[in-house]
Amino acid sequence: MLFYRELVLGEDPTNVERVMFKLRRLGAFKPWGSAVSAIEVALWDIAGKAAGLPVYKLLGGKVRDRVRVYNGGVRFPINGASPQAFADDVAKMKERPEGFTIIKEGVAFHSHMVRETANFFYSEVRDGGRYPNYGLMTEQGLKHLVACVEAMKDVLGDEIGLALDCGPGFTVPDAIRFARAVEPLNLMWLEDMITGDYTPHVSADLYREVTRATSTPIHTGEQIYLRHNFRELIEQRAVSIIGPDPLDIGGIAELKWVAEYADLHGVMMAPHGIADGLIGLAALVQVSATLPQNYIAFEYPVARPDWWYDIVDGLPDPIVKAGHIDVWDRPGLGVTFNVKAARQYLEAGDEDFFN
Ligand SMILES: [Mg+2]
Repeated sequence: MLFYRELVLGEDPTNVERVMFKLRRLGAFKPWGSAVSAIEVALWDIAGKAAGLPVYKLLGGKVRDRVRVYNGGVRFPINGASPQAFADDVAKMKERPEGFTIIKEGVAFHSHMVRETANFFYSEVRDGGRYPNYGLMTEQGLKHLVACVEAMKDVLGDEIGLALDCGPGFTVPDAIRFARAVEPLNLMWLEDMITGDYTPHVSADLYREVTRATSTPIHTGEQIYLRHNFRELIEQRAVSIIGPDPLDIGGIAELKWVAEYADLHGVMMAPHGIADGLIGLAALVQVSATLPQNYIAFEYPVARPDWWYDIVDGLPDPIVKAGHIDVWDRPGLGVTFNVKAARQYLEAGDEDFFN
């Protein structure tokens, strides 16, 4: 953050775009766009609070009074990688009081399935890093994956949508084989099969091959920084759904711009948000209220550690009702730091954080 300090000092924070004009070039794909994105969100918060208006008003006004979320953040320890283990896991999510209407599960290269399923793919299993595995799947691996998906669908039925976070790690032929195999299950989407979390490029041409070959919706985009890097995905309709994260794409106005451009091209929106915390949650609510009708749902983040709920004031309780969040009308993001409550959680050496 200190890297950006000199560029921000002296600027009027309510001229959000003018400040961003200086900052926007100084970021990159996840995680290197997060500081620029966080500053952008903070500028909107300040501008809204200065004007006495919720951020959604500054973005053009809300088109919906409540926003649908999908379960990304409410997670449980999963006991193994069998079809039953995945079925039990989504059963717990289905029983949650949030009443999620869409549930996402990590599978294949985006989960422990790679390590815990014998003979899953034709390469050695690598540990460490962020989703380091990649390779052609075995027939046994593919059959096991499909069996896990079928078991989850048996639990969720047709009343709760199932989305799968899959990679990165798939080859194009396997991605097509898998997407076709699950076509009868009417999944919400298959996410990040080719590129994705922490991949510093897009590969829109490969996604286009997969998307053209199946009726299962294909999704990507959580790690992508700036509208320019969504251009090929959208203009070539290389995926059916994109999932930018407001805290990685470059902020909420950037996300809104991309959503409008995607809508123009028939591409849908399911923003990412699992690691965004409570400030990010507030930002997601504000921007999602303003998005066009290609909006499906955003990924609901939970705060870790738990004491974050004590130091951010303004969130409703409960936050999610019947799978939706009511859009609040307080100025800015509608949330504030409770400095007094936060002091007790400062670690030794950080006592001057609020000075
Ligand atoms: Mg993901």
